[in-house]
Amino acid sequence: MPTPITAAVVRERSGTFAIESLELTDPRPDEVLVRIVASGMCQTDLHGRDGYYDTPYPAVYGHEGAGVVEAVGREVTKFAPGDHVVISYPWCGQCPNCRRDMPSHCMRGRELKMGGTRADGSTLMRKDGAPVYSAFFQQSSFATHAIANERYMVKVRKDAPLELLGPFACSGQTGAGAVLNSMRPRPGDAIAVFGVGAVGLSGLMAARIAGCDPIIAVDLHEERLALARSLGASHAINHTGRTDVVAEIRKIIGDGVRFSLETSAQPAVFREAVEALVPAGTCVLLGSARRGTEVSFEMPFLQFGRVVRGVIQGESHPQDFIPKLVDFLVQGKMPVERMMTFYPLAEINRAAQESSRGTAIKPVLRMPH
Ligand SMILES: [Zn+2]
Ligand SMILES: [Zn+2]
Repeated sequence: MPTPITAAVVRERSGTFAIESLELTDPRPDEVLVRIVASGMCQTDLHGRDGYYDTPYPAVYGHEGAGVVEAVGREVTKFAPGDHVVISYPWCGQCPNCRRDMPSHCMRGRELKMGGTRADGSTLMRKDGAPVYSAFFQQSSFATHAIANERYMVKVRKDAPLELLGPFACSGQTGAGAVLNSMRPRPGDAIAVFGVGAVGLSGLMAARIAGCDPIIAVDLHEERLALARSLGASHAINHTGRTDVVAEIRKIIGDGVRFSLETSAQPAVFREAVEALVPAGTCVLLGSARRGTEVSFEMPFLQFGRVVRGVIQGESHPQDFIPKLVDFLVQGKMPVERMMTFYPLAEINRAAQESSRGTAIKPVLRMPH
């Protein structure tokens, strides 16, 4: 029996979200039906709405869902009704990178995230018999319910506030994982974080947990820099109207930083993040630029052992990593609620506007039940 659900549907490129009643199919043997409690909103959802990924319309987005298991397929062994879960990013399990245990670099990841269907082309949601493209990141969590494969799902402790946990599925593990999984800093290593939105702030909190010092935040918005300071940045640089950011960083730490985290997707900022490094330092690129965007560096900078690399989804194995982040939250070391703004699902268009304007760092949608 299909489940009647309420979801935010986009029916045309750059259209508004409309709250509609849909039908959600039954979970397959290896799938789980989740009642979504809350879902974070990420820039990727808005890029999807605006047609960047060619996901067909009508579509339901959302890929930072947290909720409670309602039903499981007959082959599901790790989850049971009543479990609290976060739905993470999908991977195929079979490509060369998945076989090397690198699921975040799954070579089929893009189609599984953006294709709008399950891997076999089937859709999960319908309206009056017509398909709604609905497997965004294999979840489509801007809805009261979602179906996900048990492979991507993460069980979380029940004493953690569930409505804060969804963003760990994407922006949280992207930023924190880039630091804790990819950089692996030692206490006392210097780090600069370029762009302190949801991803940059997650990286910054992880850097503090790892004992980095100094932790330098660079951004255009004074309020974000103030928040970064209160979450652990030792220094804050307002980039507005400046061309000497690298010199400013070298005033704080003369040799440069061991690590830099680039989240802005601006070529000029990416170049600064590389130029701020010590020899043999590492710059991790997280900012997602449009296709065709190019950047240039001076070759000698890379010759001296500096590493520039991209990281997806914090190179996380979500079922191990997300529970650790939840522990940090419960211990007060990762107060993610300080970057969140909550909206009822019905106000999703306002959430999108405030996210694009930069007045909401991490919008979180609460589902009606
Ligand atoms: Zn794969
Ligand atoms: Zn995301």
